[in-house]
Amino acid sequence: MMRTRLAPIAVVVALLFGAAGCAGDSSPRYDAASPTPKPGASAGGADSSGTSKPAVPSCNPRASLRPTGALPAPGQMPAGTWMAEIKKRGRVILGTSQDTLLFSSRNPFNGKVEGFDVDMGRMVAQAIFGDPNKLQIKVIGYDQRVNAVLKGDVDLVADTMTVNCARKVDVDFSSIYYDAGQKVLVKKDSTAKSIEEMGGKRICAATGSTSYDNIGKVNSNPPPIAVAKPSFGDCLVAFQQNEVDAISTDDTILAGMEAQDPYAKVIGNRITQEPYGMAISKQHPEFTRFVNAVLEKSRQDGTWAKTYERWLGGKAPQPPAAQYQ
Ligand code: GLU
Repeated sequence: MMRTRLAPIAVVVALLFGAAGCAGDSSPRYDAASPTPKPGASAGGADSSGTSKPAVPSCNPRASLRPTGALPAPGQMPAGTWMAEIKKRGRVILGTSQDTLLFSSRNPFNGKVEGFDVDMGRMVAQAIFGDPNKLQIKVIGYDQRVNAVLKGDVDLVADTMTVNCARKVDVDFSSIYYDAGQKVLVKKDSTAKSIEEMGGKRICAATGSTSYDNIGKVNSNPPPIAVAKPSFGDCLVAFQQNEVDAISTDDTILAGMEAQDPYAKVIGNRITQEPYGMAISKQHPEFTRFVNAVLEKSRQDGTWAKTYERWLGGKAPQPPAAQYQ
């Protein structure tokens, strides 16, 4: 499964980039005006404002819109579609993080944001333009992923984003392109074997993440203390400065942190299932269908497996099978 293979130099990157966005980023890393919701409140919906929302209808989070027919040839997008608009604009705009190692993080040597999630966006650019580089990255905070789509700031978000019914009220999602699950990262000398043994400990998660929400539901007495930070880069800094005892998030993200910090380890089983999809505006269902056709092709022609092996190492498992509504 996942193999970590990052140099310790990456910890410097986390310190440099964890606390704030880079100069030149086209959107703020964190909206400081958004108050942090209490853990246990739903991490979904359009924002993290803590305002009460109507009950979330039940849904199958894994089911997306079925692709319609074969993909059009690159450069020949059907008139009147969002793909044709993107073609006219000259680039796909992808919302993502810059500090999620392996999935979307800034390479300190060339300054580019890269990883598994970024390659999902590059596949879409390849399908529209025949050129994966026709991709503009907007760095966004976790708590801005739904809003960025709603505001039309981005064409899609690929950012270790769990598909859930609360989020599906506001945006559409592609079919599932990765199956993750929440775990916890602790100091190497910790005796805890699972998050349930972390009662009373300070556990960090990013504002607007599903993990922050789940820390509040952990079955221990006393419960762990959830600490919110703008990003998981900030959590790693807080962990290394002993401000928090642990970090809890998807195992994908923790693998990147474990690779950066020789004094950290991931413990326990997955406590949740976190299926990742790309968030897309409900105003462009034809674009969601198109992205699903791109994903379908990548599952079949081996691109998904190559992308997995490039970023996550080891032999790629079967990609998640697509489900359609
Ligand atoms: N998959 C999570 C989400 O979409 C991000 C990581 C986390 O929750 O810790 O919110």
